[in-house]
Amino acid sequence: MEAHNPHGGLTTWAYELAASSETARAAVIDEIGNRFFDGTCPESLLKDVGLLPSRSACPPVQPPSLAEEYLRLCRKVEAAEAHGDHDRTTTDIRTQPVRSDDSRRAVLLRSNGRCENPLCAGQPDDVTDSGAPILEVDHVDDRAAWGRDHPEQMIALCPNCHATKTRGRTRETLRNLLRHEAQSRHRTWIAQVAST
Ligand SMILES: [Zn+2]
Repeated sequence: MEAHNPHGGLTTWAYELAASSETARAAVIDEIGNRFFDGTCPESLLKDVGLLPSRSACPPVQPPSLAEEYLRLCRKVEAAEAHGDHDRTTTDIRTQPVRSDDSRRAVLLRSNGRCENPLCAGQPDDVTDSGAPILEVDHVDDRAAWGRDHPEQMIALCPNCHATKTRGRTRETLRNLLRHEAQSRHRTWIAQVAST
């Protein structure tokens, strides 16, 4: 909330998570209470923002399967593309195309925490302070040159593979391989939803 706009409430993804998971909802309510209200969140506020746990108002929602979540994120990205949002730049001063957080999250979901380069010689087994795998989400065709910001053309890479793709002598061959890999993984994930 502080990073975005304290008056604007939760970001969409945070709200959706809180609305679909009792555990996440409890954690959000705890955090808001501790941070802004000396420990206890006013019930009227929770009711206003739709976070009041209530069996009748909020029936338990089955968490979406990973493939369904992947598809949902892809559809959001495509809607933003159709709306022209992906054609915008982040600032007026530096011409940098926007990078969608939804695309990034979808690719990380699809990677299952492992480098998606089929020729990867091994990614670090260590994790970040937050417990996340050491992966970088990369656009197969550079986003700075307006490569498409869609999971179908993005790939999760370990630092070694990312460096090879950026600076290695074989980078163009690798880029073609990764383009096929991203498309193939994307099709497989979408097909999982269609077959359920
Ligand atoms: Zn790798």
